[in-house]
Amino acid sequence: ATPLVTAVSTSIGAKRGLLIRDRNAFENARRLDAVVFDKTGTLTEGEFGVTDIKVQERTEEEVMNIAYTVESNSEHPIARGIVREGKKRNLSLSDVTDYENMPGKGLKAKMDGKDIRVVSPGYMREEKIGFDEEYYEHLAEQGKTVVFVLEEKKLIGIIALSDMVRESAKEAVRVLKSMNIESIMLTGDNRKVASYVGKELDIDEIFSEVLPHEKADKIDALIRQGKKVAMTGDGVNDAPALAKADLGIAVGAGTDVAIETADIILVKNNPLDVVNIIRLSKATYRKMI
Ligand code: ADP
Ligand code: MG
Repeated sequence: ATPLVTAVSTSIGAKRGLLIRDRNAFENARRLDAVVFDKTGTLTEGEFGVTDIKVQERTEEEVMNIAYTVESNSEHPIARGIVREGKKRNLSLSDVTDYENMPGKGLKAKMDGKDIRVVSPGYMREEKIGFDEEYYEHLAEQGKTVVFVLEEKKLIGIIALSDMVRESAKEAVRVLKSMNIESIMLTGDNRKVASYVGKELDIDEIFSEVLPHEKADKIDALIRQGKKVAMTGDGVNDAPALAKADLGIAVGAGTDVAIETADIILVKNNPLDVVNIIRLSKATYRKMI
């Protein structure tokens, strides 16, 4: 092997915003069978906007105030969407104690001495807390992410948020298909939303409602099928999956943990750069033979 060629490619890559940290992994890029993408923030913009609110026992203003207050402690894209809505409505923040993140499920905290939780549909089912399934299905079918606001474990409101599918993600899936590479979505979000986004993208396979600690197992299962697998993600949750993949790709705007774990970092948050990595890897190692 001529290290010079890879060195040149590394610098070409850097100029295009592809930072190669592990050359062996970079070489794997030319032999990929599948690329797994984290949904939120990778295939989608990751910018949630609140679209629907339905309340019971409390007013919309009260429910939004509670959600805004507790979500102010979180960095999750859902939290940022709720916080943005709270600011738009000029809501004020109350004091919060005992804040706790429930990875892949939501969060909890104490506000005015009461137990407040904002959680996923999966959490509601797990805890056997009833909700209007029909209303939920109606929202999820439109590709909306739905969270439930609980006070003392009683449902007081449902908040729906929507995100936007990236055009560049559609294009990336299309080009990967033409290269005979499968595109797979991996998400903690619910099945309905995942399938809505999957259809928009014409993605090959979907793993939804995956808890953070299960993400790496999904990658492992694909590798054990004999596939060469790349994983693209940005969250703290994604780090173990990035480490497990033959090629771990983090996006530049991602969390420190994801960036430290990845083999390649995409400076711009553009799924098409995954295609560029594959092309660069093919060009690089073709020259060496
Ligand atoms: P992903 O990384 O695929 O977006 P996560 O594991 O971060 O998925 O989250 C999975 C689900 O957990 C979300 O779709 C949501 O229902 C719930 N969740 C996570 N964080 C929050 C939060 N801050 N507020 C409310 N719900 C949350
Ligand atoms: Mg994520």
